[in-house]
Amino acid sequence: MIFDKSIAAFNEAIKHIPGGVNSPVRAFKSVNNSPVFISKAKGSKVYDIDGNEYIDYVGTWGPAILGHADSDVIDAISKAAAGGTSFGAPTLLETEMAKLIKYMIPSIESVRMVNSGTEATMSALRLARGYTKRELVVKFEGCYHGHGDSFLIKAGSGALTLGEPSSPGVTSGTAHSTLTAKFNDLSSVYDLFSKYGEQIAAVILEPITGNMGVVAPTREFITGVRDICTKYGTVLIFDEVMTGFRVASGGAQQLLEIKPDLTTLGKIIGGGLPVGAYGGKKEIMDCLSPKGPVYQAGTLSGNPLAMAAGYATLSKINNNPNFYGQLEDKALYLEKKINVLINRYSIPAVYNRVGSMSTLFFTELETVETFDDVMTCDTSKFAQYFNLSLNAGIYLAPSQFEAGFVSIAHTQYDLDKTLEALELAFARL
Ligand SMILES: *Cc1c(COP(=O)(O)O)cnc(C)c1O
Repeated sequence: MIFDKSIAAFNEAIKHIPGGVNSPVRAFKSVNNSPVFISKAKGSKVYDIDGNEYIDYVGTWGPAILGHADSDVIDAISKAAAGGTSFGAPTLLETEMAKLIKYMIPSIESVRMVNSGTEATMSALRLARGYTKRELVVKFEGCYHGHGDSFLIKAGSGALTLGEPSSPGVTSGTAHSTLTAKFNDLSSVYDLFSKYGEQIAAVILEPITGNMGVVAPTREFITGVRDICTKYGTVLIFDEVMTGFRVASGGAQQLLEIKPDLTTLGKIIGGGLPVGAYGGKKEIMDCLSPKGPVYQAGTLSGNPLAMAAGYATLSKINNNPNFYGQLEDKALYLEKKINVLINRYSIPAVYNRVGSMSTLFFTELETVETFDDVMTCDTSKFAQYFNLSLNAGIYLAPSQFEAGFVSIAHTQYDLDKTLEALELAFARL
């Protein structure tokens, strides 16, 4: 494949945009490459400015569950746009959207729309602190909740010490109110609660992780986290920005049969436009301004184009009773065949999958269940695999620590073509 135009475009972009991109992972740094510039996308395919076609497993990092440029979504956006792109005043569709979200995710009794996943998690955290009148928050190593200051924190030097900033620009004051536990290690959560329990406003986690790659929680872990939050009056926040409407119509909480107190949403809920949302128990949500004292606002929140795209996407999912069955069939087909290839070519790798989210971890381990397991991965092998796949017309997420997504638009032909390309890559690893 020829990438000349993308290479030139990146060299130009670097002069004007920090690192040439508007979000770091797009720079392809961890796969020792430079990004392909996308010209258009349709269905399961994306096309770059050199004219190369790819079968896409990034799906704009999750939102494209219907495939790209779905005609119903595009129609809804066009219709809305013709009537004006923003009013900063209430519209009927915002209420319809809230009703549909509540119907699909029953733990949500009231919901506020925002403009990104980051905004949803930041706001949910402020709300939890305002509601409980406590300051500390527990998050988990390997979980990602956007770029809010409270989340750019790593564990302090001792297991029970307060956090330290993981990015310059985050104050130590902020870091000191974030504690870090280990995913799938309940004792790490108990330890923090035994020391700080009465001060912990919220526990936030990806109930099924995607941002360290796909890792499902053990039953013991997720029920234990729910129970200890209930015991201490701590707000349990499921960050379902990725898993919401992805692993089931009711998100990870439906699969796991655990009700969080608050849920954050993003990605699919915007149908490809910039949207986030947070919602949950009415008693907590009613603390939000203008009903309650906790402030949060947004000029473009509930934007008519974003609501139109999101509503069209969610309705399409909701109106197809076998939507997730069809996705499961496609994803399971890939999983089975990829596992055959892993064995045939003796690739040291573990394929984790929940529904249409999956990660191929390049590790010698037999299973990947924790952040420490994830950290054993051979990222240079992943980089090789990524670049071989890209050259064969398969567009994967450019990092070992990400999820790949199958959309409803992926055809049997796409899946078989993908497997052929992956087999060639495996043969050369
Ligand atoms: C993507 C993501 C976010 C951040 O959402 P943005 O829209 O990128 O701000 C937060 N949490 C999770 C779990 C995500 O996957």
